[in-house]
Amino acid sequence: MGYITKATIQEVSDKIDALAVVGDYVRIEKRSGRYLGLCPFHHEKTPSFSVNPDLKLYHCFGCGKGGTIINFIMEMDKLSFPETVELLAKRFGVPVVYEHTGGDQLDTGMTKRIEERAELYSRVAGSFHYVLMEKPEGRAAKAYIISRGLCNEMIDRFRLGYAPADRRWLFTFLSGKGYSPEFLASSGLFSPKYPRSSFFADRLMFPIADRQGRTVAFGGRIMGGEGPKYINSPESEGYKKGQTLFAIDLAQPEIRKTREVYIAEGYMDVIALHQAGITNAVAPLGTAFTDEQAKLLRRWADRVFLIFDADLAGQNAVVKAILTCRNNGLAAGVVVPGGDPAGEKGAEAPGQTRFKDPADILKEAGAEVLQKRVKYTINDFKYLMDRGRALFDVSSSEGKARGVAFLFPYLQTLDSEVSRDACISSIAAAFGVDRGAVADDYRKTALGNKSQEAVRPSSAIRMNDELFLFAVVSIHQRLYPEVRSRLAIKEIEDPCAKDIFIALEECYAHDELGMDALLSRISAPHVRNFVIERGASNEFAANPEQLVADGIKRVEQKRLGRRLDDIVMKLRIVKAEAGIGGETSLEDLLDEKMHIDAELRRLRLKEDFD
Ligand code: ZN
Repeated sequence: MGYITKATIQEVSDKIDALAVVGDYVRIEKRSGRYLGLCPFHHEKTPSFSVNPDLKLYHCFGCGKGGTIINFIMEMDKLSFPETVELLAKRFGVPVVYEHTGGDQLDTGMTKRIEERAELYSRVAGSFHYVLMEKPEGRAAKAYIISRGLCNEMIDRFRLGYAPADRRWLFTFLSGKGYSPEFLASSGLFSPKYPRSSFFADRLMFPIADRQGRTVAFGGRIMGGEGPKYINSPESEGYKKGQTLFAIDLAQPEIRKTREVYIAEGYMDVIALHQAGITNAVAPLGTAFTDEQAKLLRRWADRVFLIFDADLAGQNAVVKAILTCRNNGLAAGVVVPGGDPAGEKGAEAPGQTRFKDPADILKEAGAEVLQKRVKYTINDFKYLMDRGRALFDVSSSEGKARGVAFLFPYLQTLDSEVSRDACISSIAAAFGVDRGAVADDYRKTALGNKSQEAVRPSSAIRMNDELFLFAVVSIHQRLYPEVRSRLAIKEIEDPCAKDIFIALEECYAHDELGMDALLSRISAPHVRNFVIERGASNEFAANPEQLVADGIKRVEQKRLGRRLDDIVMKLRIVKAEAGIGGETSLEDLLDEKMHIDAELRRLRLKEDFD
């Protein structure tokens, strides 16, 4: 396998049904000839995200994100360029042709390495699973799983396994299958110091897959020996802890369907939830819930339910996760750890300590109780208010102030003044303080934070005749040959227009058409964005030939006008010096002036006839 050919990329770009592709992520509606939807990259209530199906561009007028449809999928699914092209090629029936002669897509090698590793990991997962189910060494681990109330169906679905205590077993096994020691040493499965010694030994194994279901890592729970209770595979090109969620591959269909997702703390919790039929449950991978993970979920879900441990660490994690959710446009609810004490009598035997987490509930009370328990949720704001009152001594005024301030980060995530206002009233009532004082304190905090925020670079490009022309041509690239035959690069004054001109010329020279090819050749982000914005706005759709002809004419006029000014100035200097200038003689300048006068007359005349 080598690089994907340019022809393939172009064919894929041509065949993409932009509305269908984007429609998988965003509900697009046609309004007055434009396709609009709610932006998946920022939180908004009125649509400012637009798709241009002809140019295969998207652009958000709210947050400024934009690009081609290939860029869109890369961004949404966190895929590399070749991965995205392959994915779209498959979907739109384009055969992918690879070439072996270099190119500029350096990450093709990475894609290949990720695929190779995923294949190895999948095989290893299968072997660990076999050891768990069939081998005497796996008995203790299997007994443990059964004791936690998990059924065989879940063991299969999650491909649970057992890594033998003998650290040399895996290397011997994989070498026997023909894998080279070098490949195995770089696989992340072995100790960096002792490349034949398995990273995981005597552990219950949880394979971790990415969204496409490729096995990218393992989590291992200790069964015997010493070491941390859980360890995870080291991060790699295809596996970043903060960007992956346990069981995301299995949970995705139900998340899409319900637009809701449960986030639990541990692998066992997730499996317990799935066993209870709550198949939209995932877990972070031994880290706090991250922005990246929230963004990943935001594509499919509107609401997150957090099921974390009732201990202090768990509850602190809930507070952070709520803010992460809200900052990424996800509403959050918190599953009450003990369930609703008033609602469900008998679920907990008297005197027994409260069930800690979903895995415990499943084990002690069964799937039905677990199903009911996860329905008892409170909204994030109420949860935080309770938390604020529990964390600070609200009998003192100092404690009250700190308890109130504890809620300010939440207020800041709200984008509606009305809901913020309502929250401020609730806070004042809950803490028994003056409403105006809460509002004042909040305003001070918010102002302090705002001054630290970086100012987003606005589209600094101001439209002019040259930019207008090149915007039209970049959108209607078939008209470019006309432009290049009439204008030379040195005749263009605006630096952004020059950038676009050069990129168009490069595409022309390489016989490439299309937005992807063009944008990939524009390196300045603000120029790229300018092209994307103009394309997405659809403003140059009607009669582009005329727009280009007019544009060329205006640019020529401007250029000649500039040259004329220049000559007139030089003439003045030459006259003032009453002699002959160095390189430019008076006659030459006068000649050129006459020529330009005639040319401008011609252009004006042409205008009158047009
Ligand atoms: Zn946006």
